Amino acid sequence: MDTDLLINGQIVSGAGDLVPVINPATGEAICNVQEANEEQVNAAARAAAEAFPKFSLKTPAERSSMLFDLAARLEAEIDEFAKLESLDTGKPISASLDEMEACVDVARFMGGAVRSMNAVAAGEYMEGFTSMIRRDPVGVVASIAPWNYPLMMALWKLAPPLAVGCSMVLKPSELTPLTTLKLAKILNDIYPPGVVNIISGRGDTTGNNLINNNNIDFISLTGSIRTASRVLEAASGTIKKTHLELGGKAPVIIYEDADLDKVVADLKAFSFYNAGQDCTQPCRLYVDNKIFDNFVADFGSSISKIKVGNPEDKDVEMGPIITKNQFDRVQGIVQDVQKSEHLQIITGGTKYKGSGFFFEPTLITETEQSDHIINEEIFGPVVTVSRFQSTEEAIQWANDSRYGLSSSVWTRDISKAMKTVARLRYGVTWVNTHLVGVSEMPHGGLKASGYGKDMSVYALEDYTVPRHIMISH
Ligand code: NAD
Repeated sequence: MDTDLLINGQIVSGAGDLVPVINPATGEAICNVQEANEEQVNAAARAAAEAFPKFSLKTPAERSSMLFDLAARLEAEIDEFAKLESLDTGKPISASLDEMEACVDVARFMGGAVRSMNAVAAGEYMEGFTSMIRRDPVGVVASIAPWNYPLMMALWKLAPPLAVGCSMVLKPSELTPLTTLKLAKILNDIYPPGVVNIISGRGDTTGNNLINNNNIDFISLTGSIRTASRVLEAASGTIKKTHLELGGKAPVIIYEDADLDKVVADLKAFSFYNAGQDCTQPCRLYVDNKIFDNFVADFGSSISKIKVGNPEDKDVEMGPIITKNQFDRVQGIVQDVQKSEHLQIITGGTKYKGSGFFFEPTLITETEQSDHIINEEIFGPVVTVSRFQSTEEAIQWANDSRYGLSSSVWTRDISKAMKTVARLRYGVTWVNTHLVGVSEMPHGGLKASGYGKDMSVYALEDYTVPRHIMISH
């Protein structure tokens, strides 16, 4: 098991506190990881700053080739990475394998895309002067990743800045650092010392030291709104640029003419993927009153059959919640639902037996738009379904959220779908699907879901600055 950090081209043990890494399927410790102390965080950021001038001048072809090497090395060990990810997160092994393939793909995509970046054409916009645009790397990046897709988020955070010539320090979540620490050795074989540094540790200690370090030019976070506020405070002192991918509460509008069998099958898979711990989870379903009762009966029956259990079992569809704390939070929210006078639990609502943090797939109905469960992100296997009487009501309720990450519309009427899409205020809107992403397309939100894009050429733009060069002649 790799538990060491990567600082300035050296694989070193952390010098801070020991942080246990827990297997959520059993509740037992897998290992301890010693976190990076303040000196080590400073050393990592300093090394990145020293490596930047030389690395930023490498050609796109050289940086592309490094990302292709990274993709190949990851692919060669894909089964080992997938097993480790399952152990650390409790994800079913089949899901981990899919995610590892997505990691490989994003490295390859960024390696290709960086060689064909665009800008305004160079030219004489004033007589006697020639203007041109350069897109240069933004500088030294601090990236902070969450626990729900540990290696995939690490790749979303590593591949675009390394493609454009930034140097960086990446901190995985202290809850799930193992695949990123395994990747550190591969990164060290490919990149010059200091270009990429991997430090592990808790948010309030290692993370806090990193975001407040003066060598950092840019902070990229995927995490909670609470942590985003810390990042913005840290950024305000020295005017660091920020990139924030925060939570969601995705509305799903299901019109009367939707293909109900497809809706039920797809949402069974998407709403409970990763035990619902996904910022794009389709969790706030709005269904036309005319089909509501049928839908609730079919969907409730379908999700009650989801196979929950040991992540190593190939047939298992859903694993545990990540920590005891998060499990208690989800259970507390569902217990409040049980005390409500109007809310009803159609299926689920209780813990599975055993020592792991398993919770039943849960469907709740008879909601009111002001309910806490409609407004707050749960981040667990809990979904609400509400009835609407008109298109207007559906769109208004869907938009009635402080979040703005993702949404979906289900209908056979393409005109109705497009009219609805145009009015939804979400970074991504799917039609007749949900949760599916591709490296070529951007991921990111509006409103309290944050700003900045992961994946796609827009991520490459985020980690670069357009510079105007003007020549008088
Ligand atoms: P979190 O904010 O607690 O932790 C995220 C990361 O931030 C971790 O690495 C953590 O150690 C670090 N951190 C915490 N406090 C910090 C501090 N003071 N300074 C610096 N770093 C700090 O969030 P989480 O619980 O790991 O993740 C769940 C949240 O992330 C959810 O709200 C979810 O919706 C969101 N999320 C968003 C996306 C997206 O793409 N929009 C993807 C995954 C998760």
